[in-house]
This record gives sequence, structure tokens and C-alpha cells, in this order.
Amino acid sequence: MAKKTVKDVELKGRKILVRVDFNVPMDKNTEEITDDNRIVQALPTIKYIVEQGGKVILFSHLGKVKSEEDKVKNSLKKVSIRLSELLGKEITFIDVTRGEKLEKAINALNDGDCLLFENTRFEDIDGKKESKNDPDLGKYWASLGDVFVNDAFGTAHRNHASNVGIASNIECVSGFLMEKEIEFIGGAVDNPVHPYVAILGGAKVSDKIAVIENLLNKADKVLVGGGMMYTFLKAKGLKIGKSLVEDDRLEFAKALIEKAGDKLVLPIDTLAAKSFSNDSPFRVVDVNEIAEDEIGLDIGPKSVELFTKELQGAKTVVWNGPMGVFEMENFANGTKDVCESIANLNEAITIIGGGDSAAAAIQLGYADRFTHISTGGGASLEYLEGKELPGVVAIADK
Ligand code: ADP
Ligand code: MG
Repeated sequence: MAKKTVKDVELKGRKILVRVDFNVPMDKNTEEITDDNRIVQALPTIKYIVEQGGKVILFSHLGKVKSEEDKVKNSLKKVSIRLSELLGKEITFIDVTRGEKLEKAINALNDGDCLLFENTRFEDIDGKKESKNDPDLGKYWASLGDVFVNDAFGTAHRNHASNVGIASNIECVSGFLMEKEIEFIGGAVDNPVHPYVAILGGAKVSDKIAVIENLLNKADKVLVGGGMMYTFLKAKGLKIGKSLVEDDRLEFAKALIEKAGDKLVLPIDTLAAKSFSNDSPFRVVDVNEIAEDEIGLDIGPKSVELFTKELQGAKTVVWNGPMGVFEMENFANGTKDVCESIANLNEAITIIGGGDSAAAAIQLGYADRFTHISTGGGASLEYLEGKELPGVVAIADK
């Protein structure tokens, strides 16, 4: 069902609570923000509320907070500075998550002003109030505003006080980023346009079992690459040398291969290396020629060609998980070439869900060539598994 959005509520002169996902990666040594994409993605919602004359009260988690030391490391102060630069507007930063200081600052806001308060997980130090959705905390935060806009898709798979807790007290609508994630990832799960091709990769079968099963039910073809392909190849009776394998998933893989028939497409060649290193010598071999001392680190060119053929005519494409160890230059081509093939489909809705696959596509320069690149790693994975996300469920229906 369609969800209410920030466009469906009155904003002018009202206190608008906005849960954003400012959980940005930070450099361990310099503690500087290394990628501000999540802040950038939150801007349209913030700008819109400012333009409409709402009083914007922003909050987010950042990392995990278990000690006083974590509080220093995971303060949102630096995020507030970057946000202010990106927005071209002053942000009042409040270094607490509750109390008089915060309440006074909120009451002092004029229409169109923005405030950001501290990391919601500061509340986890004393009894995990945020992460365990303490009812009093959700109620308290809800009391600070008139309307709740949830734009934090990256946390939508969590049942926390700062999303579900607040929403059980006041009306919750989606922000523009959340709306987009629901439209594309939710759309690909609930009512995809066919032909629908899913491409799955990444390291482990065990991480992706539920996604594979769900997408085999929804998609017309499921193409499998990445580290998990070798468990499938072994299940077919092939020798995979020292490649990544999960022996306890062989039976699952066998059953799936049988059940799926032609729907499941496996690579036909691979890059076989002597060791798990970019400097290792390697050769391109058919999947039945992997030597005992070799490790498969990428799909080969024939597989890219096969996958490209399978993609032709697709109207919906969902990609989750790299095709090889893309972090190493010599084993990034499978991922890169498949990325290119998806990007070249002009009539398809193309979606990337998954933290590493999104990072790979962005790193390889494909950021603008997909219909949608999800900002939520874990959240998009659970969405693709067909699970209901508590943060999405809590948003009011239209
Ligand atoms: P996502 O975050 O997109 O869901 P995953 O976390 O499941 O993806 O997997 C990403 C990881 O899989 C990458 O770090 C990549 O190096 C690894 N990987 C891909 N192919 C292989 C392979 N053949 N052997 C070992 N690891 C692999
Ligand atoms: Mg990952």
C-alpha cells in the first residue's frame, strides 16, 4: 500500500521531527567523514521542509555506542558541520539527546530553521534505550515535535525508538529518500515489471539464502556469481579447488538447482588464482577446469557474455552482491562488465541493493547509470528477502 509522504502533511510553523540516516563512514585515524553520500541523499527532504517553513529537528544514529569513549568518537558534531556546508545554511547542533537544553533550543527555532541533536545511540549506554525501543524514549522524542518524517531507510529494518518508537506516538510519514527506496526496492519485490532478472553475488550463500529463495519466486531469471557461485558449482559435482565454499550449504544448493531448473544461471568460466591476492598469477578457465591449488576470484568473460545475453529485454533488474573480489583490480572486471551491461539496458528499471555492490558501482563510476542505488545495505537485503521492515510498516498508509 502507498505510504504518506512529507508532501501529505502541513509543515508551516510546525515542529518537524526528521529521522535521517547520517551513519556515515569515518576514517579511523583522522575521524573525518570519508563518504558523505548519506548526508547528500537526505538533503531533498530537509530542503523541502525548510522551503515550506517547517522547523526542522534532525536526528540520527552514528556507529555503535557502548562507552563514554564511543560517545566522543561517534559524535554528530562533524556531521553537522558537513551538513551545514552542503545545505548552505546554519545548523544548530545540540550535544545531547534529551533534556532542557534540547527543549529550549527547539522552542527557539523560527520557521525554516534547522537543528541537529546528538547521536540517538547515546541512549544505548544506559540500558540500550534506543536500540531496544524503550517506550518512554520514543514517547519523549515524539513529544518534541508535531509530525514525524522518517527518511532513514538504512535503519528501516530495525525496531528502534528513533523510528518505530516515535511513530507509535505521532503521525509518521516518509521523506523523499525513504519514498524512493520503497518505490524501487519495494516495487521490485511486490510488483515488478517482467521480464525480471536478478543478479546475485557476494561472499556467502548463507548470507543470501533468503534473498535467493525469494527472488527465485519473483524473478524470471536468477544469475549467480561471486564467492557463492563455487558452492553451487561444487553442488553440481564440479571441482572448485581452494575457492570459497560453504560445505554445510551444499544440500541447499543442490535442492535449489533442481527446483529452479533454467531459471538459475551459473557462470561457465572463472578467473582462477594461486592465492587470494591481487599479485597472484591467475588464468581464465572453464568452471570444470579449476585446479586443486587454485582459488576462483571472479567470473570470466564467457560468463559475462552469458549474463549479458540473459539481461537483454529485461524490464526490471535487481543486482545484489559483486561478481568477484572487486576490491582487487585484477578481479574487478566481472563486476565492472556486468555493471556496464546493466547500465546499458535502456528500457529497464535497474536497481542495486546491497552495501558492497552499491559501493562497487559507485567506485567503478556507474553511480548515475542506474535507476536506483539503495542507501541501505542491511535494510535493502532484508527488503529483497521479502521481509517487512518495521521502519516502513510504521509509516502511515495513504
Ligand atoms: P553486498 O554487501 O553487496 O550484499 P556481500 O557483502 O555479500 O555483498 O559480498 C561482498 C564481498 O564478496 C566482497 O568483499 C567481495 O570481495 C566478496 N567476494 C566476491 N567474490 C568473491 C570470491 N570469488 N571469493 C571470495 N570473496 C568474494
Ligand atoms: Mg556486504
